[in-house]
This record gives sequence, C-alpha cells and structure tokens, in this order.
Amino acid sequence: AELDTLDLVVLAAILLGTVAYFTKGKLWGVTKDPYASSLANASGAKAGKTRNIVEKMEEQGKNCIIFYGSQTGTAEDYASRLAKEGKSRFGLETMVADLEEYDFDNLDTIPDDKVVFFVLATYGEGEPTDNAVDFYEFITNEDVNFTEGNEPALGNLSYVTFGLGNNTYEHYNSMVRNVDKALQKLGAHRIGDAGEGDDGAGTMEEDFLAWKEPMWKALAEKMGLEEREAVYEPVFSIVERESLTKESPEVYLGEPNKMHLDGTAKGPFNAHNPYIAPIAQSYELFSVKDRNCLHMDIDISASNLNYQTGDHIAVWPTNPGEEVDRFMNVLGLSEKRHTVVSVKAVEPTAKVPFPTPTTYDTIVRYHMEICAPVSRQFLAQLAAFAPDAEAKAEMTKLGAEKDYFQEKISVHHLNIARVLDIVGKGQKWTNIPFSAFIEGVTKLQPRYYSISSSSLEQPKKISITAVVESTQLPGRDDPFRGVATNYLLALKQKQNGDPEPCPFGLSYEITGPRNKYDGIHVPVHVRHSNFKLPSDPSKPIICIGPGTGVAPMRGFIRERVQQAKNGEKVGKTLLFFGCRKSTEDFMYKNEWEEAKEILGDNFELITAFSREGPKKVYVQHRLKERAEEINQLLEQKAYFYVCGDAANMAREVNTVLGQIISEQRGVPEAKAEEIVKNMRSSNQYQEDVW
Ligand code: FAD
Repeated sequence: AELDTLDLVVLAAILLGTVAYFTKGKLWGVTKDPYASSLANASGAKAGKTRNIVEKMEEQGKNCIIFYGSQTGTAEDYASRLAKEGKSRFGLETMVADLEEYDFDNLDTIPDDKVVFFVLATYGEGEPTDNAVDFYEFITNEDVNFTEGNEPALGNLSYVTFGLGNNTYEHYNSMVRNVDKALQKLGAHRIGDAGEGDDGAGTMEEDFLAWKEPMWKALAEKMGLEEREAVYEPVFSIVERESLTKESPEVYLGEPNKMHLDGTAKGPFNAHNPYIAPIAQSYELFSVKDRNCLHMDIDISASNLNYQTGDHIAVWPTNPGEEVDRFMNVLGLSEKRHTVVSVKAVEPTAKVPFPTPTTYDTIVRYHMEICAPVSRQFLAQLAAFAPDAEAKAEMTKLGAEKDYFQEKISVHHLNIARVLDIVGKGQKWTNIPFSAFIEGVTKLQPRYYSISSSSLEQPKKISITAVVESTQLPGRDDPFRGVATNYLLALKQKQNGDPEPCPFGLSYEITGPRNKYDGIHVPVHVRHSNFKLPSDPSKPIICIGPGTGVAPMRGFIRERVQQAKNGEKVGKTLLFFGCRKSTEDFMYKNEWEEAKEILGDNFELITAFSREGPKKVYVQHRLKERAEEINQLLEQKAYFYVCGDAANMAREVNTVLGQIISEQRGVPEAKAEEIVKNMRSSNQYQEDVW
C-alpha cells in the first residue's frame, strides 16, 4: 500500500517509541522495528505492482509462492495459513498471491530452487473461481505458450496443489484435478499428493490438515529444509492512533472502500465495491411462527447495476451485535472498541483485508467471520496465548485431537469467541495479538442468493427469497443463527415496524456506518450466472425447485408470464415445488395462481408436501410419477432446471431422471446416465444448487 503524508507522520511517531498495544513490544524484539520495515518496503510495494511473478519473487526475496483461486474466501484463507506455516516451521520465504494479479507465460522461468503452490477451489459446475478464470484458460490450453520455450516447458517447476471441492457436485474438485494434469503434462514436478478437500462431506478442514503434514515432509526433503520450532510472528501490526477518533472523517467505520468513505461511491459495483441499495419492500413468506422465509425487493434503479433472470445477488452482511460484544469482551477489548487503529502488513506481500484507519469494533463487525466455524489448527495456535495453564492444555488438546474437537466444538457450532469463553472459563484472553485474528479468521463474505425476479418484468428491482437460518442444537441454550439471513430479517422487521424489531435479540447495526444505510438499505452486488432460460420462449421447460430452490424458478415463470403478455408464444412450463405443509411454507401460492391465469394449460404446478401424508413425498417422487410426460418433453428438447439443496435433492433428481429415461426409452441405466450427462454438457440440464 502506498503511504500518505499522514501515515508518514504516524510512522515517525512510532519510530520514536510507541508500541502496539497487543504485543506490548514483546514480540517485536528491540532491533527490528516493524514500522521501519513497513516504511522501507513501501517503495518496494509500489514497484511491486508488476504482473510478473518471477520479478516479484526476486524483488521480495521469496522462494515459495502460494497462489489461490478463491470464491468464498476459504482457499484464500488456506493459502495464507500455508504461507505462515511454511515460514514459521521451515523458514521458507513465502508469499500469497491472487491468481488474478499475475501473468503465467513465464512460469517456465521460475528457478528450480523455488516452489509454487496452487490452492484452488472448484466453483459450481466444475468452473474455476472468478479470480482463476484466466489462469485456468491459460494453463489448460493445448497450445499454451511460454516465453522461453524450454523442453519440457515446465521441467524446472516444482509445485504443490490442494483443491477445495464438494462431492455433491458432478465435477468434484475438477479445477485442481485439471490444473494438476495440465502441469504434469507440461513436465512440472508435483511435491506430495494433490490434496482434495470435500465440503460436501463436511471434512474440508480435516482433509486439509491431513494432507498438509506429509506434503510438508516431502517438500522439506525435496528442498533440503530443516524444520524448526514454530514461533508466532504477527503478519500485521496494529497501531493505535491517538490523534483520531471514530468521528474523524478519515476513519473507516464499515465503509467498504475510499469512495464509500468519501460519499462518492459509484459503479462498477462488484465484489470489491457494493451498491448500497434501498430495499423497496420486504415481507415473510411462511405463515408459521418458528420459521422465517423472507421476500425482499432490492431497488437498483439509482445505480448502473443490471441483471438477467437467473443471476445471483450478493448481500454484504454485518455481524450481530451480541456476537461482536462477546468477541470484544472475551479479548478484553470492550473498553477499546472505538479506539482508532491503523493496520499495516509487516510482511510486505500480505494484504490488510479491510481499509484503515478503522476501529476494533468496525473490524469485528464488518470484516471478520466471527460467527463461522473455527479451525482446529487455529485453536492449537492460540494455545500459546491462553490465560492459564489449564486453558492452554485444553486448547492444545482441542487442536490435536480431531474427535475431541468434533465433540466439544463442531457439533455445537461454536464460534471463536464462544470457544475462548468456554475454554478460558470466563477469563479474558488479553495476550492474543490482534493480528492473529486478522490472519486466522476469514474475512466476512458476501452471501449469494438466486434472484427470484424477472429482469424482463422488473429490470431495476431484484427479488430475494431467503430462508432464515436458525437451528436448535444440542448442548446450547440459544439456537445457532446464520449471519446474513438474520441480518436480512432484522432489516425486514425494521422496515415493517414489527413489534419485535431485533430478531431474537440480535442487534444488528442496521443503519450502517455513519448511518449511511438508514432508510433501510443493504449493500449488494450482482454476479452473473449461466442458469438461463432458453432464448426461444416456445421451448418447453421443466423446473424443479423445492423450498428456496423455487427462487430462480419464480424469476423464470414471471418472465414467461411477461413474455406471454407481450404476445410471445410460450411453451409448456412445469414447476415441481415441494415444502413441508400446504398451510405453512407454501411459498408464492397466489403468484402461481396468477401465472396460471395468463399461461393457461401451458403452466402446471406440481406440489409435494412432505409432512401431510402418511409417507414423506418429495419432488423427485412427483417427477417419477410424471415419467412419460417428462420424457416426451425432453424429447421435444425441453430445458430441465434444478435449484436448491445440492447434497440430497439435486442428486436424487439426477438419479430419477436417469431412471425415467431408462424406463421410457428402454435403454440400460448406464446409457440413460450418459444421456443425462450429455444433457448437462449441452446446457439442456442446468443446476443452481448450494
Ligand atoms: P451462515 O452464518 O453463513 O451459516 C451457514 C451455514 O454454515 C450454517 O447453516 C452452518 O451449516 C454453517 N456454519 C456457520 N457457522 C458455523 C459454526 N460456527 N459452526 C459450524 N457450522 C457453522 N439461500 C436462500 O435462502 N435462497 C437462495 O435463493 C439462495 N441462493 C443461493 C445461491 C447460491 C449460488 C449460493 C452459493 C447460495 C445460495 N443460498 C441461498 C444460500 C445463502 O447464500 C446462504 O448460505 C444462506 O442464506 C445462509 O447464510 P447465513 O449468513 O444466514 O448463514
């Protein structure tokens, strides 16, 4: 990052002897002033804007680069953890790098005493993450071209890979598999196994931990590295800025970037720059007390945002007040929550994941996933900072024993502050450097929602259909609650002046930084997707959308209604919808009746109410009952859409479709499965599952 004059003044003040609050000077040593180093590196960081990775490694004296392809932040997080571990345990000079920020045509010139890691998530239907698209196209291109023309092209390259995937998807971990294959083909040498983590089985973290030990061993052997006692070194320095208060105009209180701080926010709005959108209206779709499902219309008319039916909208949540308070309290930070701090990377290639100067409260409320699952490795790391020997021993045990961790932490969905509270028996954990949290807790991620409106009908209003996450778990007094959906619920309650304005007492900072979200606004951006209606509306479509899986189907059907109103010929439209009870969670019931009035016999809603009959009935059962008709429609090239639960429903629908085709066409099941596969690759079968 570049330094402005103000920063220089602050740095000078620090050089005169101020020390970071948390570390109390102990970790820094006397000779190495972190601010001096960050000052010295500032010029390098400027020159470091290069897209040439070899140059960057040389300039920064690195021998290990860890690239990540990340969509939701986990791959990025793993990359940072590997970088830290490589440095602290093996003395590797590591740096983390976003694939998007470099070119790859000189990968062949990376010297053979260096190593490159690829930590790659697979997204959706076997796609690369947004930041890995160019790299993926480059490396898997048959005619990939390098500058030097070595033979084999990557004969000098040593690499390590780990993939993040979900086995409920058809193309499990295809990103890492294909990249690994491409690298091998180009003659590169992999060190250790090509690791794969499985989110579908819920074992991502454990897969990662199990993979990395043998990998480090193999890497140490290959590079002749000596393992040493790992000592925690903070990646970030935190400086309290006494001259600033939270009222100072340059202090970020949750504004996502400088434009938002200055009040000059403008598009393009994207994953780095949300639009603070007014919520036009919000209401609930369920008629039961203990479950909530929200419908929201987000007004984008005053922005240059646009969307197409089937796209996704990302909501940028903030953390609930109670959890922010819990976090502050257990760290002994409550008194200092509004103290202004500047955060700088001690290690010049690391990036501070939020804008500063800011306050502790802001960092915790707007920028960290403080409610998310904790990693076992992180607990092991925090053991060193425990308030007493007993807590230290417990943290070490939790870090070391997978089953114990599972039983004590995972099943109760404990977040980091709850863990510290329980393990420390209420004592405050004041020894943990704040940097450890910036490093060890993922940055707060936007949540995606399948847009449930039609852009033909309402191009400037985006609808969301979201079920509020709330689960009663054993061993907890309060239910586990999802971050974004309860934030949306709080917005809905505020907007409608509901008698109980804070859902379940979770007090979100609804009016946002400096009240900029007042009048019921929510920060959003749009992500374009491939989940799309056929361009010819006369083609038949079959939509399978139980529960909130109905969201994009509502968009599709409203679009077809609009097309019909515009005089276009609209083909057969089947919607399979499922929920528990027709009287409880039958979403958009009236709207389907309206659609029927316009589309007539060309629209049919087929329902499955799982808790009404003697036996549980799901959409896949209904699909099977309609086997003959489904097959006929498919033969007429009907498009087949599935949205909702990836783990069970989408899989079963896929299987049932294979059975239908096999029976109806009299072909063996294996052949039918192949037909389904081909439908997928030709986009006749489209999924939007999560
Ligand atoms: P979170 O706080 O993110 O929690 C989500 C889950 O993570 C929990 O249920 C739990 O399993 C796990 N978890 C979180 N914290 C912990 C912990 N401490 N310990 C253990 N486990 C934990 N949802 C809809 O309702 N409608 C849609 O149309 C829709 N469309 C989507 C489209 C896409 C492309 C994707 C990727 C997702 C979509 N989702 C949709 C899901 C949505 O993005 C959110 O995941 C969902 O709303 C929950 O968000 P949350 O912040 O409330 O919950």
